[in-house]
Amino acid sequence: MGFALRIKTKKVLLIHPPVVRPCEPPPGIARLSGALKRHGVEYEIIDANLEGLLFLSQRPLEARDTWTRRAVARAARNLEVLMQPVAYRNLDRYKQAIFELNRVLSRQDRSGNIEVSLANYRDRNLSPVKSGDLIRAFESPEKNPFFPYFEKRLHEAMENDRPRLAGFSLNFLSQALCTFAMIGALRRLDPTVSIILGGGLITSWMRRPGWRNPFEGIIDGLVAGEGEAALLSILDKDYAAGSDISDFNRFLPLSYLSPGFILPYSASSGCYWRRCAFCPERAEANPYRPISSPRVVLQVKSLIRSLKPVLVHFTDNAVSPALLKALVREPCGVPWYGFVRITRHLADPDFCNALKRSGCVMLQIGLESGSQKVLDGFCKGIDLKIAHKVLESLNHAGIAAYVYLLFGTPWETEPDAEKTLEFTVRNSDAITFLNLAIFNLPAFGPQTDGLDTMPLDTGDMFLYRRFEHPAGWHRQHIRRFLENKFRRHPAIAPIIRNDPPVFTSNHAPFFAPSLL
Ligand code: SF4
Repeated sequence: MGFALRIKTKKVLLIHPPVVRPCEPPPGIARLSGALKRHGVEYEIIDANLEGLLFLSQRPLEARDTWTRRAVARAARNLEVLMQPVAYRNLDRYKQAIFELNRVLSRQDRSGNIEVSLANYRDRNLSPVKSGDLIRAFESPEKNPFFPYFEKRLHEAMENDRPRLAGFSLNFLSQALCTFAMIGALRRLDPTVSIILGGGLITSWMRRPGWRNPFEGIIDGLVAGEGEAALLSILDKDYAAGSDISDFNRFLPLSYLSPGFILPYSASSGCYWRRCAFCPERAEANPYRPISSPRVVLQVKSLIRSLKPVLVHFTDNAVSPALLKALVREPCGVPWYGFVRITRHLADPDFCNALKRSGCVMLQIGLESGSQKVLDGFCKGIDLKIAHKVLESLNHAGIAAYVYLLFGTPWETEPDAEKTLEFTVRNSDAITFLNLAIFNLPAFGPQTDGLDTMPLDTGDMFLYRRFEHPAGWHRQHIRRFLENKFRRHPAIAPIIRNDPPVFTSNHAPFFAPSLL
């Protein structure tokens, strides 16, 4: 690993910045923690996302309207509600708690320029895809609504633990401005501490063609891809790959907004399929690196023994058929869910029954379209006849299906979208949850060549572009189709209403039949 930075330190601080859904520990930091532990490096973690959101949602607030006053008064109770199984038996009570908490969070910035929610962070004046704006967030951390929380928390961490290296894990755009604000606050507290930045968003940025680091002088090192080897190389340790197990112990006492501890576990990085057009896994040429299925089973069982989770979340892009079979042979004893591809063995009712017995409560399925032409254009490798059988078999087995649909791909026309509507209606009895999205064109990759594209954003760190749809099937038409026709269809509307707001698939397993 050719990382130039070298730091002799006994203590590392790992930070998960706001804002992402605060329902489970960040798996990337847990993996780094496991690697540091195995190599004898002391470390501390701060889940600034969870702590920051808990802080903001309970901070005294001068409310101008009755609705906000009531939401403020009930914030502590609403947080408790989301941690109790009983709330997940009453979707209306659950929704009320979420909406009221979001109300409180959205009123925290008095200027009205920044909107915080349980899943997002938006600043009208600063864009997370402009390096100049990220640097401005770094220079003025006090303007960030989380500042009173993270300034005190970072001060305590620096006083108590005296780390010489701090690593921030930046995975989503919703974390970017807060990450740079936290780095700004940390630099003020201790200008000599070394700061490195890694995670999924950093990886995507660094793999853009012609990437140049605009953060020199602010960040000491940027890490693309899995961070274990880079982090240990910075610490001057020889990294022995292969036998790490994530360490969640420091996350265990934290109060995540879920009815018990959710164990996120990644059995692979990359994707075993890696053929779908426009997929970042393909565009970024991320290698597929699975952990062997027997080892996954051993590790998950060992984590379950020590952490006693209520749910295991396989965070893989697609859980491999080999792992599904291993979980059938050796159930881990706790309900679990994750993404799968539509494959023939899931069309087998006996296999689905066995999956159910293994603890599978929900499978997430990237179906994308009900038009075979679109699926073939996309290289999804999905046969709609098999998809129908898979949904039927899962339904009979009692496994919830969380189906993802994508509208507006370059191959789709309005008649194709109608076919998706027909397929969804025909299978509506077997679809438990639905996610509808409009296609965003990744800015880089060979598939953009034949399209007429234009900037989506004026930022220098953008990852998506606008494009002229070859069939004129534009976003405004798609939005109208989804709002006026798709969502309102009597077979589909109840499925859409069933989706837990904000936390969506993260909490959906708790609303799946028979989990709680
Ligand atoms: S299955 Fe998902 S992760 Fe894998 S290539 Fe297709 S879109 Fe990408």
